[in-house]
Amino acid sequence: MCQRMPFSNDELDFTYPLPANLKERPSCYIYIHNGKVVTGLLNSTGSPTILHENIESPQDKKTIQYIGELNEKLCYAIGLESHEELHEELQLVLLRDLIGKVDERMLALAGRAVQLVEFELTSKYCGRCGGLMEALEDRGKKCSKCDFFTYPRLSPAIIALVMKEDEVLLARSSHFRPDMYSILAGFVEPGETLEHAVRREIMEEVGLNVKNIRYFASQPWPFPNSLMIGFIADYADGEICVDGKEIIEAAWFKRDRLPLIPTKTSISGHLIDWFINMPEKK
Ligand SMILES: [Zn+2]
Repeated sequence: MCQRMPFSNDELDFTYPLPANLKERPSCYIYIHNGKVVTGLLNSTGSPTILHENIESPQDKKTIQYIGELNEKLCYAIGLESHEELHEELQLVLLRDLIGKVDERMLALAGRAVQLVEFELTSKYCGRCGGLMEALEDRGKKCSKCDFFTYPRLSPAIIALVMKEDEVLLARSSHFRPDMYSILAGFVEPGETLEHAVRREIMEEVGLNVKNIRYFASQPWPFPNSLMIGFIADYADGEICVDGKEIIEAAWFKRDRLPLIPTKTSISGHLIDWFINMPEKK
């Protein structure tokens, strides 16, 4: 069921820490400033270049994170403190604006780069006692005073397509454009299983019970640090009753009468596409 979607790419080797025998490989760099990606001139395929070679020595920078190996080159994210350090022909671009404009592997690297630089910038001091944090070998950090540990922040969120025979449940969130519908999603609470989060979110937002919850695929969603975990579930019982806050409208739709839905940029678009292309039951 797993399908390719932005920010998810299995071709990058993310093994960390690097084995000593790899450390002499050529390197390349993604530069990040204030959550934006530094892009250069268009390359031969018409995409903006985001992976730069030999621009500056990474040792001079305070924020540097290893983000993976690509084509036998080691890729690093470098957090720039000021955009005044940029060459004239370089630009700062939002991660979201790179979707569809750069190669999938580049987009996945850029998503990692933005999140890991942000982690570096926001974990200099201990959240418990204010002491200096020291880097560990496994990307984590440990407080030099109180031994508090921290790791790059990830917020798991479930997203679920609910089916009732040949219909799909679609809902409108209060922050969607007026004609847009999608499937339901929500953050996982501490102590919950993913399946529990699916059942709870659907009950909270539309008042329905679901059953037969099965995994579909996952997608890193770096806005700012979600991991979307997609599921398919079957309607069990209940009548649609929206919460009126997060969800203002919800209904069952047949596949040939769908409203405006998300594109395949996101896992929601992939889940709905799966439903549209599902073989009809005989
Ligand atoms: Zn501390």
